[in-house]
Amino acid sequence: MMPTRPAVSVPKSASASPLDSASTVSRFPASTADYDVIVVGASFAGAACALAAARAGLRVAVLERKSDPGAKLHTTGIVVKEAAERTWLGRAPAHCFRRVEHVRLYSPALRSLRLDAPGYYFLTTDTPALMRWLVDELARHGVAVHLGTPFVQAMRDGDRWRIPGIGRTRYLVGADGARSRVAAWLGLPGPRDFLYGIEYEFDGLMLPEPGALHCFVGKRFAPGYLGWAAQTPTGVQMGVALRRRRRGPRTPDIDGFLARVRHLLGVPDDAVPASTRAGLIPCGGPVLPLGRDGVLLAGDAAGVVSPVTAGGIHSAWEHGETIAAAIAAHLRDGRPAPERAVPRATPRFRAKRALRWLFDRCQSDRLFEWMLYSPPLRWAAQRLYFHRRRQRQGGAAVGALD
Ligand SMILES: Cc1cc2nc3c(=O)[nH]c(=O)nc-3n(C[C@H](O)[C@H](O)[C@H](O)COP(=O)(O)OP(=O)(O)OC[C@H]3O[C@@H](n4cnc5c(N)ncnc54)[C@H](O)[C@@H]3O)c2cc1C
Repeated sequence: MMPTRPAVSVPKSASASPLDSASTVSRFPASTADYDVIVVGASFAGAACALAAARAGLRVAVLERKSDPGAKLHTTGIVVKEAAERTWLGRAPAHCFRRVEHVRLYSPALRSLRLDAPGYYFLTTDTPALMRWLVDELARHGVAVHLGTPFVQAMRDGDRWRIPGIGRTRYLVGADGARSRVAAWLGLPGPRDFLYGIEYEFDGLMLPEPGALHCFVGKRFAPGYLGWAAQTPTGVQMGVALRRRRRGPRTPDIDGFLARVRHLLGVPDDAVPASTRAGLIPCGGPVLPLGRDGVLLAGDAAGVVSPVTAGGIHSAWEHGETIAAAIAAHLRDGRPAPERAVPRATPRFRAKRALRWLFDRCQSDRLFEWMLYSPPLRWAAQRLYFHRRRQRQGGAAVGALD
């Protein structure tokens, strides 16, 4: 079933990509290949789905609109311990990661509290390098990766979907982010509630406390979320996100936030960010339906992000794997159609949605300042940052549904 050669294709018109070397690039003719799954998007949800499907023996292609998967990123890319230890991400080369073992939580007045849990850690990432490695892994597993190839639409062809120039497929997976083209094309609602985050990357800088994930609470710069800073393998990243209102959306004041905290972070006045990342983060929970007629949405496209922490990498990864497992179980073993199985295996984040509702309405700087060193606040913060996340095995979760 598996294609025999690893393949990454980049259209001739696309700008040179780091993958554009003789060893990894092969150009497909406009083909009518038959696939079991075509995945749109080569980020976390798409890579997880494509990799799991290929490892299950399915024929898989991936379309990614960027010609360099490490370019124009919107994510900070901090990976929680569970994702590092239980997913394929943990196999990335060591130079992609830097370990951060505790959290420093700052009040609006910049008083701070140290939080940690024995054995727990986060990994900050050289995210561009990680994304390029993921695409190499896809190619190594026989996935046909088409870079610089945006999804526009697909046509029905019997019981399959046909994408011109790519081929036909039994299943199409939209893992193309919070503003999913696949969802729009299929007329699915897609996420409507968002946080909006902006981040600066400063190459070569070192934080005074590099072992901490620095988190800043306060309505002035981050109503509904946080500001943050962390040491990465390549320097310092700092960012801020806020709850995006449907009417009159605001842009996070990243420069104002930087001016407020730079003395704590040791960012010199003349430091210039090497790059800026920005994007929407769904925070309203999964959006149903998640698909129909052989099309499924994964990760941010499906709203599968923690509504409180906005951590989407681990949940996108698990969701992508769940979809692949459901498709494989259906095609190989005649199990229920993935359109039925996947929604039942998708986390609803009910408690976190309730917390999000409370946070949106009741955030109070004075209360936070007053409670900073109190046992209830420490307990709640420990739970948010370090609680044991439930392990969701794609195959097991789907298999348990019948
Ligand atoms: C500023 C910011 C910081 C964040 N920090 C963290 C963090 O530290 N830790 C964490 O866990 N989560 C974080 N998140 C959330 C996390 O980044 C997302 O939840 C996660 O990236 C979702 O992965 P995904 O694969 O579903 O979508 P995305 O990462 O959005 O990937 C979508 C992919 O689809 C491609 N694509 C889009 N349209 C098309 C098209 N038409 N055709 C082909 N390809 C297309 C895109 O180029 C992209 O590669 C952050 C988000 C933001 C905005």
